[in-house]
Amino acid sequence: MRMFLKRFAFLSTAAAVLIFPIAAYPSESWFPKVEIVPRPTEGGIREDVPRQYRDRYEKWKAELLSTEFGRRQWDAYATNPSFVLTIRVSRGKDKGAGTDRFQWDEQGNFVGATITLGHQIDEGYPNPIYYPVLSSLSSDATSYLISGRILAATKLSHELGHVNQTASANAAMIEKQSKLIPEYTSIFLKNGHNIRDRKLIELAEEIGGTPIEIWESREYWSEVTAMKYLKERIRNEAFYCYVFNKIRINVQTYARDYVDRFEPAALVPCSK
Ligand SMILES: [Zn+2]
Repeated sequence: MRMFLKRFAFLSTAAAVLIFPIAAYPSESWFPKVEIVPRPTEGGIREDVPRQYRDRYEKWKAELLSTEFGRRQWDAYATNPSFVLTIRVSRGKDKGAGTDRFQWDEQGNFVGATITLGHQIDEGYPNPIYYPVLSSLSSDATSYLISGRILAATKLSHELGHVNQTASANAAMIEKQSKLIPEYTSIFLKNGHNIRDRKLIELAEEIGGTPIEIWESREYWSEVTAMKYLKERIRNEAFYCYVFNKIRINVQTYARDYVDRFEPAALVPCSK
């Protein structure tokens, strides 16, 4: 069922949006283009937030910084002189968010990235297939109402996860992926979406998986980061088990191959 769902999601929109699954988080860019810039000497976090969104942004940020995990995520970038993390708030992203403009210096050091938050990230839940953690914060009439600020901070934590992942990735591999994924996509669209094509198999071996596998692996790692924030933030809330049992069911239903990353939340039913 899980594979069927994923394959269906993948193929049904392939022509329209290349190889993004239908379930993709709204407008999130996912494979970094390699941009080379001089190494910064006065790095840190640059907040590019229009005046009308400043109040809400400060509340989202305060939610993130109310946990030790969030503060550690934040401080790692705020205090790094040779890395510039830009955080923008934009109407264009609406309820979604994305991380892009990844930058390296001539020596291959990762030196910059931009997180763009929609102006309404305190609303909107992405699908449970690729976002088992973010989607767990949704509620219906019979369940808990979980604050939009927590949702927003969890989305911000997810995006910081993407920056962390890129920081720990091999720059040469990212460059290779950014060159070869468009080539893969182009062949895929012309060959009747046949991923068993010999050339596609070779390309997938070279870049560490099919584009969809690479993409989903990144999303799940970011969901693990989001889960760590959430675990600390809501540990004393009445809805803790409500959320973590949803995460467990989502991971077991849609992300079985990635259960290990989410342990123990993905394996042990929550009760307290
Ligand atoms: Zn993501």
